[in-house]
Amino acid sequence: MIVNKKYNSVLQTYSRSNLSFEKGEGVWLYTSEGKKYLDFASGIAVNSLGHSHPKLIKALNEQALKLWHTSNLYIIEEQEKLALQLCDLSFAKKVFFCNSGAEATEGTVKMIRHYHYSKGNSHKKNIVVFNDAFHGRTMTGISAGSNSMHRKGFMPEEESNYGFVRCSLGDINELANKIDKNTAAILIEPIQGEGGVNVVDLKYLENLRELCDKNNIILAFDEVQCGIGRTGKMFAYEWSNIEPDIMGIAKGLGGGFPVGAVLLNEEVSFGMAPGTHGSTFGGNYLAAKVSEAVLNEISSIGFLSNVIVLGDFIKKELNGYKEKYPKLELEVLGKGLMLGIKSSIKNTILLEESRERGLLAVSAGNNVLRLLPPLNLKKQEAKIALGILDNVFKRLN
Ligand code: PLP
Repeated sequence: MIVNKKYNSVLQTYSRSNLSFEKGEGVWLYTSEGKKYLDFASGIAVNSLGHSHPKLIKALNEQALKLWHTSNLYIIEEQEKLALQLCDLSFAKKVFFCNSGAEATEGTVKMIRHYHYSKGNSHKKNIVVFNDAFHGRTMTGISAGSNSMHRKGFMPEEESNYGFVRCSLGDINELANKIDKNTAAILIEPIQGEGGVNVVDLKYLENLRELCDKNNIILAFDEVQCGIGRTGKMFAYEWSNIEPDIMGIAKGLGGGFPVGAVLLNEEVSFGMAPGTHGSTFGGNYLAAKVSEAVLNEISSIGFLSNVIVLGDFIKKELNGYKEKYPKLELEVLGKGLMLGIKSSIKNTILLEESRERGLLAVSAGNNVLRLLPPLNLKKQEAKIALGILDNVFKRLN
């Protein structure tokens, strides 16, 4: 639907496309005119089970009839259950609930600094972050992220590192040289999403773990985008032999319901006593029940292997287009159903051409087009998307 110009009250912080949708079902989105789109954007990696999943509708509706919100001043059994479920599925022993990815970053950073403070090392404040990193749009998020444009005009002083030390990705010696007595943590996305679907080498992640252990610093992962089954494991770190000490998650956890969380091991939870952090809405009844239903589905037998099989299938087919369309210099990136296409054509053109043919994707940094379909995608739907991309490449080659 072309949005009527009379709507002009939303602050225009996004360059939105002139599209809006009336309903969704599975991987499909429908406009009010009945035009349908294959959704390989999933609300930017959020609709992990697609649109209108019957189990999510049931979980939300059943809870909506009982109780929505009481605040964290009282015990919320549904939240306790979800925390236990997340601990069972991960390295974590404790969970803090919030409402978004940026809040998960905020909590991660606060907990890192507070841990060292509680241990009598309050000089340990600096956090190593990486080029092309994205950690959200709060003040902490933009301070940690690599894009200086996100900071422009928002910071109290223009030239400061705001407690973050930037490092290029992949050179462990460069990183080792940046660690000093004031280093509190290393914060990394195991697969950078916004930065251009950059899969971090598993050996590098293992080297980070070693460096952290050697220097008594915390290893923090941001799995806001790559977690919750996106790569074919519940969490992307599971592809490696190591675990982080603390990790932010959000996006896919609620399948479209706003929720985020910080997962911590026992050691890092030290000192996080009543009053140290909080969130009015974090982990309320509705968020907890919907997230539980999402996790049940993603951890059901065969679910994640479908993500791996379909991810490999799409990657193989896309790689096949390299020879077919040599002028496009195609490069296929990613893991599971977190995929990226880089080419000699601008990503925004690929995005537009795909959209015109009924396929929604998302752009990312470094001229990458991101494909983030729902994780319960079917092979037939993947084939339709590939057919559309084939047509786009044919026209542009
Ligand atoms: N961290 C990562 C890795 C992300 O990809 C994002 C969002 O794209 C965020 C944090 C911020 O999440 P939100 O937009 O929910 O605040």
